[in-house]
Amino acid sequence: MRESHHTVSFIIPFLNEANNLPRLLDVMDKFARTVERTRSIKMDVIFVDDGSTDGSRAILSACTRVRTPYMSVRVIRLSRNFGKEVALTVGLKAATSDAVVMMDADLQHPIVLVERFLDGWLTDGYDVVYAYKQTNEDEGRFRRLARRLYYRMINSNADAEIVPNAGDFRLLTRRAYEALRELPERQRLMKGLYSWIGFRQKGIPFTPAKREAGTSKFSTLKLALLALDGITSFTILPLRMATWTGLVLAIISGGYGLYTIFEKIFLGTAVPGYPTMMTTIAFIGAAQLIFLGIIGEYLGKVLVEVKGRPLAIVESDERLEEEARLLRSGTHDNVILHERKW
Ligand code: UDP
Ligand code: MG
Repeated sequence: MRESHHTVSFIIPFLNEANNLPRLLDVMDKFARTVERTRSIKMDVIFVDDGSTDGSRAILSACTRVRTPYMSVRVIRLSRNFGKEVALTVGLKAATSDAVVMMDADLQHPIVLVERFLDGWLTDGYDVVYAYKQTNEDEGRFRRLARRLYYRMINSNADAEIVPNAGDFRLLTRRAYEALRELPERQRLMKGLYSWIGFRQKGIPFTPAKREAGTSKFSTLKLALLALDGITSFTILPLRMATWTGLVLAIISGGYGLYTIFEKIFLGTAVPGYPTMMTTIAFIGAAQLIFLGIIGEYLGKVLVEVKGRPLAIVESDERLEEEARLLRSGTHDNVILHERKW
């Protein structure tokens, strides 16, 4: 099956993946060779080094020269760790190809699935083809429950439904990724943004492989914080809860007030005072604090957006084959690394 000359970029954010990069490059280059032969698609890769400190960058330079004859490699290095979501966006901003495939650097995303992504795009005409986890067996029961509740809550109110279990492993066509990268918010819950942009989207089930080396960078606490961020980024449900709670409290306390009057007039019992009063005051105080906190969360978000800082600072942006060529010809010192703000 031969198709027209499309270009596709892998976008791969990484943080301290020195032990995974050499194999990853092998796997990708082999894949690039296959799709070039079978579909006339030219693949390249944009790595985003999210502030690695384990020598990942040097390994990338060293390996690229020998391991990737079929694929050009570009590395954008951020000036520090900005988080995966920002790193992905920086990668997207650098892309110019007909489609991008976002993938993790730890080989948990099976590359064979990219063939299915390409089919979904070129044969079926989807703009977004994503992989979703078939099962969550690899996670503990608590995490699974939390995940289910979370998606139910967020989807009950967000204006675009977020697909549970679908992550960043996906293909986006040019118009889809251009839409995505134009979204101006600084606090980016990618999962939510993927749905928000719309277009025809298709999901493909998969089972992630075990991590080849190193450990996951997302602890339960980090995931929980990300989840909280997602809620306040995508729904105003918590703010509305304040109104509803206030209304319910007003009805209950109003009813209770009426009851005490009734009690006094018809039953003649003295108004029982202190304990009920204290409980009520404490309860209302607590409710107020909670909702002040929620408003604070949203206000914090507004502050971050209003400051309008760039999403990340790019320290360097290099094409490695270029570097290799210059190294060979001994003019490496003349390479100018351009710094850019995104
Ligand atoms: N990653 C990143 N910046 C971060 C954390 C992670 O670029 O701050 C990269 C990481 O190197 C990997 C991908 O994001 O390529 C997924 O991370 P990880 O495997 O730790 O997450 P998990 O697979 O557990 O969801
Ligand atoms: Mg992983």
